[in-house]
This record gives sequence, C-alpha cells and structure tokens, in this order.
Amino acid sequence: MKEQSCETKSAEERVNFIQQQIVDDLQAGKNGGLVHTRFPPEPNGYLHIGHAKSICLNFGLAKTFAGVCNLRFDDTNPSKEDVEYVDSIKEDVKWLGFDWGENEFFASNYFAELHDYAVQLIKMGRAYVCDLTPAEMREYRGTLKEPGRNSPFRERSVAENLDLFARMRAGEFADGTRVLRAKIDMASGNMNMRDPVIYRIAKVPHHRTGTQWCIYPMYDFAHGLSDAIEGITHSICTLEFEDHRPLYDWFIEQLQTPARPRQIEFARLNLSYTVMSKRKLMQLVDENLVSGWDDPRLPTLSGLRRRGYTPASIRNFCERIGLAKRNSMVDVALLEHAVREGLNKEAARYMAVLRPLKVIIENYPEAQVEELDAVNNPEDESMGRRKVPFARELYVEQDDFMEDAPKKFYRLTPGREVRLRYAYYIRCERVEKDENGAVTTLYCTYDPATRGGSSPDGRKVKSTLHWVAAKTAVSAEVRLYDRLFLDPDPAAEKDGASFTTKINPDSLEVLNDCKLEPALAEISAETAVQFERLGYFIVDNKESTPAKPVFNRTVTLRDNWAKKAGNKRLGKRR
Ligand code: ATP
Ligand code: MG
Repeated sequence: MKEQSCETKSAEERVNFIQQQIVDDLQAGKNGGLVHTRFPPEPNGYLHIGHAKSICLNFGLAKTFAGVCNLRFDDTNPSKEDVEYVDSIKEDVKWLGFDWGENEFFASNYFAELHDYAVQLIKMGRAYVCDLTPAEMREYRGTLKEPGRNSPFRERSVAENLDLFARMRAGEFADGTRVLRAKIDMASGNMNMRDPVIYRIAKVPHHRTGTQWCIYPMYDFAHGLSDAIEGITHSICTLEFEDHRPLYDWFIEQLQTPARPRQIEFARLNLSYTVMSKRKLMQLVDENLVSGWDDPRLPTLSGLRRRGYTPASIRNFCERIGLAKRNSMVDVALLEHAVREGLNKEAARYMAVLRPLKVIIENYPEAQVEELDAVNNPEDESMGRRKVPFARELYVEQDDFMEDAPKKFYRLTPGREVRLRYAYYIRCERVEKDENGAVTTLYCTYDPATRGGSSPDGRKVKSTLHWVAAKTAVSAEVRLYDRLFLDPDPAAEKDGASFTTKINPDSLEVLNDCKLEPALAEISAETAVQFERLGYFIVDNKESTPAKPVFNRTVTLRDNWAKKAGNKRLGKRR
C-alpha cells in the first residue's frame, strides 16, 4: 500500500534526490516499508531559517511517505545547552506548523544505553581509554597527507580499558585527562576514522540529567546510535557530515544495532545578507548588536515571526528553493518575495501616515466627521469593506508634498489637485511654515462632488495619496526594519570574525509619532496588515501595548535592494 502511494507521488511530482533514495529503499523492501525521520536540534541556541529547511524536509518526508518524524534534542554538550533553548525550539517548530505528537526525545535519555554500547565496543576490543593530552592527540592524528600514528595506549587490555572507563564514569579523573576512543585505523584516508573520541570527561551538570553523568558521548557516537535506538530509517543531515558517514556506519555495523538507519546529506541553506551560524547569532545577541534572539532583523524563526513573516511563506520558500547536493547561497530576495506574495493575498489594507504633515481642508465643515467606504483587500473581495473617518484636519506623508516640485512630481504642491484614497480630490492652496522655513501645515480645499475619489466632470488627477484624519488618529511607534548586513556575504572571510563591522547602520529606523486610521487599534498581534503604499506591517508581539501600539515593518511592497545590489556591482557607493 505504502509503496504504491509513493510511486504515484513520484510520478506526479518532481521528486528530489532524497525522496528518490527513499523510494528506492522502499522498493528494495528495506525497513519493512517504513519511513521514520527526525529533526535533531542541539539546544544551544534558537532555531533559524536554515533549521526551517531541515524541519520542512524531515517532517515533509514523513508526511509524503505516511511515516513519522521525531523531534530529538541532541543534548550531549551540557556546557552550551539550556532549557530556554529547548522551550524556544518547541515553540518555533509548532509555530512553523509541524507536530511531532508523542515523538519528543532527548539524546540524554539514552545516556545509559550509549554507555552500554561503549562498554560493548571495549569488550569487542574496538575501543580504548587514551591518556594523550589534546595537543598530543592532534599530533598523533597526522594530516590529510600524512597518516596518523597509533596512540601508546591503543593496546591496553580489555580489562584495563573496562576498569579505566568505569573510573572515568565514577569521576576519578579530571576533565580532559582521559578519553575513550574507537579503535579503527590511524592510517585511514578519512580523518574521522583515525580512532575518533567517543566519550570525554566533563564535570558539568546537564540540564536534564543533572550530575548523574560526568562523561558525555561525542556527537558522532551519540547521533547515529540515537537514530538507531529510535528506529530512524533515514537520517537526513547537512553536507559537512558526508565525511562522517563511514564512521556513522561503522558504529552501527560494529554494534549490530537492531535498526540500521541510513544517513543522507543535503546542502545547508545559506542566505545572502545574513549570518546563520548559531555562534555568530549568539555573538550578535551577546554584544547587544541586536535586541535579542528574536530581534526582527535576525533570520531566527522567533525573529522572523516577530517581523511578521508567516509560517506558510517560510514553508513555501523552503519548498521552492528545493534540495541541492552542493552548497550555495540563496538570495534573501527570494524569501522576501515569498513573504510579499503570501501577504498580498492575506493582509488587509489600512492607511497609516509614518511621517505626518498636517493638512487643513478649509472649505470642509469644522465639526463634521464622515465615514467613507474602503476596500479591505482588492485581491480578495471576501475580506469585505470598512469605514474610514474623514474630517477637516488630516495627515499626509511629508514625502507626498514638495513646495518647489519638479515637473515629474505629481503629488501635492501648491496649486496641484490630487486624490485622497477613498475620499475626495483636494487642492493645495497655500502652506504655513515655522520660523526655520519648514512647512508645518498645508491649507487645502476639497471638491465635494468627488466623494469616493472620482470627478463627475471627468477631471483627472495624477496621484492618489493615503491619509489619516487627525481627530480619530491612533498614535503609534513604527519600526522600519531592513536587512541587517550591507554585504551579501558578511561572513565570507575565512574566520568570519569581522562580520559585525558589516552591519547595515540603517537596518532599524524607529518612528515615534506615526498616525494610524482607528481600525488599526483593534488589530491583534500576529495579524499582518498592509499600510497602503508603504509595505506590510505587524503588531510587535513583545512591546506593543494598547496605550502605545508598536508596529514592525515586515517587508516593503517592492524589492528596494535589487537596484542597490546593481550599484554595488558597479562599484558605486550606496
Ligand atoms: P549552526 O551551524 O547554525 O550552528 P547546527 O547545525 O549546529 O547549526 P543543529 O541544532 O545541530 O544546528 O541543527 C539541527 C538540524 O538542522 C541538523 O540536522 C542540521 O543539519 C540542520 N541545519 C542546521 N543549519 C542548517 C541550514 N543552514 N540548512 C539546513 N539545515 C540546517
Ligand atoms: Mg550541530
């Protein structure tokens, strides 16, 4: 049955290479027709969009093949891990739209089993306790060109190894003084096979097992065996683990685990104009270069969420970029495009003035407030209509006015008539300035015959402006976010240490006195809206209050960076 359905699927869809390998395995009758994947985050930071790619892939494969996907915390390095990260990871996976149900696991749950596996290797003569210092170990390891040399401790007897390993576990030795190593081949062309360390001493309490253990398994040992313990059939990981696959297979082979997972690698997602490694993200947080892991400029899922990116648009993006076997850089504009595309369909339109300029309609009755009819989303009639109050005093954008306007400027200037969206034609008659000569108020007249925005005499205007009535306006803070880095590949240099010098100084602009139409006061957090002509925005899920609403700009209506990037290529300054 199961095989049947995936064959149908593969005929219908463009099948990626991982799906193809799974189909091959199913057709060869492996794993009893089951597909069981896992997403294995290490709880040492917040998830980012690269993880989203892995989540979509692993949960997606389970869904495609009617299988199961585990959420497994790869928590074997207690000095860097924390429950805060466990909690945030769960929240982010859920938010992204995936459900692991009962299948929540921790590598630390298997510490006893992993320990027993290590003992088994010792008994088989396939592991030994080594007393070389880390520096000596490096030296004995050899290089890519030179084979390594056997450790002087390699030929210890099984009894001695068992005794020493038991005493490592009992806490008799200081951190770093001894390790347990697999006994494989110091001359192997693959460095990972040169007697890799499988257990180390670390007298560090673990966030789940407390002080129960003072030895911890290394990633390569713990990961594959955790896969085997959970009955994972396909262990999907990123390319840097390709050279570890022989070791992955070696442990499974030696220990004859009941399940035989298969490791398959794909290229990790790299995005332009950002950094993705948790170490770099942590540095940005620790050095207060951003406001926290959920800063809306970060590619973390909590940051993207706060920025207003929707789970569906992130999933679409991950789907669209597909899977590769070679590392490459994906243009962040593609992600922004996916976000715009989704929001264009979903987001209701409203009017908001970010940099207000006062307009007084001199021939409009002083006390009158009219409710004008507005469309919520021209892309989707089912989203209905709303009323927008109009009155004698309004705000328009400062940018929409120029006193000495060039010919091609069609917006407000003295003597020019424009349309106010959903309202009337107005004409600018004169301006008022402050003592510095800055324009503070526009005095205008309106044409009552143009209600709704068209003139019965067929008179045309060249521009339509958004506006907000002063009397009913809601004041808000609006945060305009932009890309965090000016450089498409901020971590390009070898050590990447200087990436923080490439931060875009204009990545955040805070506007304190924006004027919003009153309906925006009712918008709940996590509901995306479009401010007409300005972009997509969302209520800040952390700092917004009814008394002082805060909106974040999710994305502009168009890609403003394509041109900048072009300039950059031409060597021009921005
Ligand atoms: P980072 O390199 O960002 O610090 P990591 O690989 O150390 O991340 P883990 O918590 O170990 O982070 O990752 C969990 C899973 O997510 C792994 O299977 C890993 O391969 C995958 N993953 C991490 N980063 C990416 C990425 N950029 N693209 C695709 N998958 C990724
Ligand atoms: Mg990792």
